[in-house]
Amino acid sequence: MTVHSFQPPRLTVKLSLGHKHRGWYLIFAYPYRTLDSREIARLDTSGPLKTRGVWSTRPRFWFDPHACSGWEADGETLLDLLLSPAILEPLFAVVDHEAGYSKVEVLVPEHKLAHFCEGCERWEAAGDAALRWFMVRSSPLPSYLCPACHSHDWFGARLQRSLKRTLSICC
Ligand SMILES: [Zn+2]
Repeated sequence: MTVHSFQPPRLTVKLSLGHKHRGWYLIFAYPYRTLDSREIARLDTSGPLKTRGVWSTRPRFWFDPHACSGWEADGETLLDLLLSPAILEPLFAVVDHEAGYSKVEVLVPEHKLAHFCEGCERWEAAGDAALRWFMVRSSPLPSYLCPACHSHDWFGARLQRSLKRTLSICC
C-alpha cells in the first residue's frame, strides 16, 4: 500500500487512504502504540443529489467539506491539504463541484490502498508486503480479510459480514 507523506509545520505525517463499508478514510499508515484508532477522518459524504456523472473506472465520491485532520492551516480545508503538491503521489483529482461540495476521483489504484479487514475490523499496516489482506469480494468496492481471519473464514462469519454490510448500506 502507498504511504503518503506530508509535512505540516514541525512534523512529518505518514498517511494512507482506504475504504471501509463503502466509506473513504484517511488513516495513519502505521499503527502507533499511543493511538486508539488509525482513522484520522472519514472523507466522503452523501453530497448533493445529482445524477449527472461521467462513467469512470476509478472510484469517485463527494468529499465532505467538514472533514478535518487538525493539520489544516487557517482557511484551508482537508481537501486543499490533500491536494497540495507537498504530497508527491496525488490522491485525488477534483472532477465536479456543486453547492460547495467537490467530487473527487481516487487516483490511488486499489492495490495501493490500505485495506480494511471485515472480520476483525483492523486496517492493513504499511511496510510488510507479505501480510497483505486477502480480497474476498470484488464489487462494487473490494472487501478484504486479514490472513488470520481469512484462515478462520467459515459460513457464520461470512453471514455476519454480509449482514453488517447490508446494515451499513441502509443506514
Ligand atoms: Zn482480520
